[in-house]
Amino acid sequence: MKQLEMIYSKGLYTMKNEIRNELNLQINREMQSAYNYLGIATWCSEKGYPGSAHWFSLQAKEEMEHALKIYKYLLDRGETPTLESVGKPKAAFEDLRSTFEAALEQEREVENFLNAISVKAAEAKDHVTLNFLAWFLEEQVEEVASVQTILDQLSLAKDSLFLVDQELGKRTETESAGN
Ligand code: MG
Repeated sequence: MKQLEMIYSKGLYTMKNEIRNELNLQINREMQSAYNYLGIATWCSEKGYPGSAHWFSLQAKEEMEHALKIYKYLLDRGETPTLESVGKPKAAFEDLRSTFEAALEQEREVENFLNAISVKAAEAKDHVTLNFLAWFLEEQVEEVASVQTILDQLSLAKDSLFLVDQELGKRTETESAGN
């Protein structure tokens, strides 16, 4: 018990309010991302791109997993997650390419936020959170790269979107888990 008190007094398990608030916001951003991807998946389904719809629905699932990972982390650190409301996703897109451009923009935005939270965690000397966030930052590098690859394929494919869409339909859940 004395040892435990010592750990607490050293502040290892005490999360600063600012960090907790940032992680709460990040839960919301991940959920918003999931919802945005589900909105894109719906558009893809409607427009006859089943492969892309599949890809985006797995992407939505992955974002929800990210949100839950942060949610669990807050609980593990003895914090109470605060769940905010999620906004209505965009439902109309110009063409298939613009859905992946929207995805790229979203991933870059998330990356910026994760970077900003990492800087704050470093300033707060919250090394546990910093370590926790490292996985997310690595994940973002993969996310941005995979969306960029799809955009490149779409550029090469020009009018044969069918083949790219068919390829995207092959994405598996293991791939989407990001492990
Ligand atoms: Mg994410």
